[in-house]
Amino acid sequence: MSNNQVTMDKIVNLCKSRGIIFPGSEIYGGMGNTWDYGPIGVEIKNNIKKCWWKKFVQESENSYGVDAAILMNARVWDASGHTASFSDPKMDCKECKTRHRADNLIEAHSKGTVNADLLSNEEMEQYIKDNNVCCPRCGKSNFTPIRQFNLMFETSRGVTEEGQNKIYLRPETAQGEFVNFLNVQRTTRAKVPFGIAQIGKAFRNEVTPGNFIFRTIEFEQMEHQFFCKEGQDQEYYEIYKNLAWEFLKSIGIDESHIRFKDHDKLAHYAKAACDIQYQFPIGWSELNGIHNRTNYDLSRHQEYSGKSMLYVDPFTNEKYIPYVIEYSIGADRLMLAVLSEAYEEETLENGETRQVMHFHPAIAAYKVAVLPLQKNLSEKAREVQKMLAKRFMVTYDEAGSIGKRYRRQDEIGTPYSVTIDFDTMENDTVTVRDRDTMEQIRIKISELSDYIAEKIAY
Ligand code: ATP
Repeated sequence: MSNNQVTMDKIVNLCKSRGIIFPGSEIYGGMGNTWDYGPIGVEIKNNIKKCWWKKFVQESENSYGVDAAILMNARVWDASGHTASFSDPKMDCKECKTRHRADNLIEAHSKGTVNADLLSNEEMEQYIKDNNVCCPRCGKSNFTPIRQFNLMFETSRGVTEEGQNKIYLRPETAQGEFVNFLNVQRTTRAKVPFGIAQIGKAFRNEVTPGNFIFRTIEFEQMEHQFFCKEGQDQEYYEIYKNLAWEFLKSIGIDESHIRFKDHDKLAHYAKAACDIQYQFPIGWSELNGIHNRTNYDLSRHQEYSGKSMLYVDPFTNEKYIPYVIEYSIGADRLMLAVLSEAYEEETLENGETRQVMHFHPAIAAYKVAVLPLQKNLSEKAREVQKMLAKRFMVTYDEAGSIGKRYRRQDEIGTPYSVTIDFDTMENDTVTVRDRDTMEQIRIKISELSDYIAEKIAY
């Protein structure tokens, strides 16, 4: 609604106090930059994933889902280029021993006017010296030289020390789609162009994680690889830019809070790349990426695995390695955008303020709250709860004044509250309160379930 009121602190506090997101391993003093989703948070995140899947798999004629293993043959990461070059330029402050990304230091110092992606390590070191760029923690300018730091988490596979092999926690889900390209194509009899989607965990040993769930070391990605013929690639690149934008709008992100940002520097294999940025409480930052990756990924897997990745066109018999348009968005980063977007401290007519989360109903954790006006109406209220729970996530609350109970639902963004009162016992009707307008209507219990279903449809 109006995300200019919201700060990161307000979101973190709300998340912690309302069971949305807790610090990871909290009773042991935490585990830096890990977060646990609570009862409300897990529902919201699942709903984000469901909406994405609906748009990019269910409603898409030519898309198929996979759920590939997190642990993959280590050769996959040689082929993808991650073992050689999935790294960030790291510098340590010699004074206070904190670790930084040189590119981030430069971008912050130049207020975004210098694009550090375009600089070599030597040029970054020189810029930092010439401009006396200081450590954000201690204010001194005394850094180690830059070292490239690989972001992949390593682990080992094997039962004996000697027989152990180095393997990695996947740093992106995309390779699971690439290595299964022909499995999916053959088993579904899909014809190029078609897409493969996946939602799953990824892990990155980030040099500077932080900003709550914006950048973490363990996160979920929702990725869609669209395989097409060379020549059609730019057309589909534009189509996916548009679909990515429309998806954000469809879950309630206001268009004025998102913008496209073309990449200034393309990876050597990429033909085009852009991000959609969101106006987070920390400023405009990447929410998702869309890339025209040419036929690089499948060609590399063909080269490294020795298995043909050729697609045979069933009409022309032409053989070729398809181009890939990749659309990739972090589920947790989108969750942060959704939380920022929904947050409002609203001043009411009577001068009071209410904190309300205006989630799209499809995203909200509970679709409906059942509230008996008094405790002696609880039997009937439980009946209504049971009936609604067959179709929706429902919550029940009989503690405190009805006003307080409405506020509690507003804070977690429940779009509808159903009140059971004395008239309910007479004529089987209930009131339904709308979270956003706070207006109430009276409807028959027999019509309630369909009414809610229609209101929350996505
Ligand atoms: P960034 O520039 O922010 O590090 P990236 O360009 O490396 O991101 P991609 O590799 O394109 O990101 O990953 C696709 C998406 O995955 C990102 O747009 C973001 O939404 C999400 N993502 C990437 N890294 C993280 C992370 N460490 N924590 C949370 N989400 C992440």
